[in-house]
Amino acid sequence: MVHLAATATLTAATPGNHPPVVDGLYALLGQLLGQALPWLLLALLVWVPVYLLGCWLWPFGNCRGCGGTGKRKAPGLFGKAFRTCPRCDGSGLQLRAGRYLINRLLANYRAARRHDDRRERQL
Ligand SMILES: [Zn+2]
Repeated sequence: MVHLAATATLTAATPGNHPPVVDGLYALLGQLLGQALPWLLLALLVWVPVYLLGCWLWPFGNCRGCGGTGKRKAPGLFGKAFRTCPRCDGSGLQLRAGRYLINRLLANYRAARRHDDRRERQL
């Protein structure tokens, strides 16, 4: 149990405790988090389905390496020479992270279904 003596000193009476400033910061942080956490959770609950729906409808985004052009400036002193982007093989497209996650989950689900179907046939 933490025991604070009623003194005029700024440090707590028990050795190893935080100074009052740190305790105040912890209290402030807890208060802010307590007020913001429900809103953050609500925003997350809205944002995640909207993002996944967007990933379902538009699975590809612009490649981050070339900005969607499919071309990158050739290295060295070749002036305005371009080469195809190695990241997207010149397509300019990149699978979104959410769509990658959806594809992995669907593949996992289908593999599990196949496994279950095979087991039912054997029984
Ligand atoms: Zn690219």
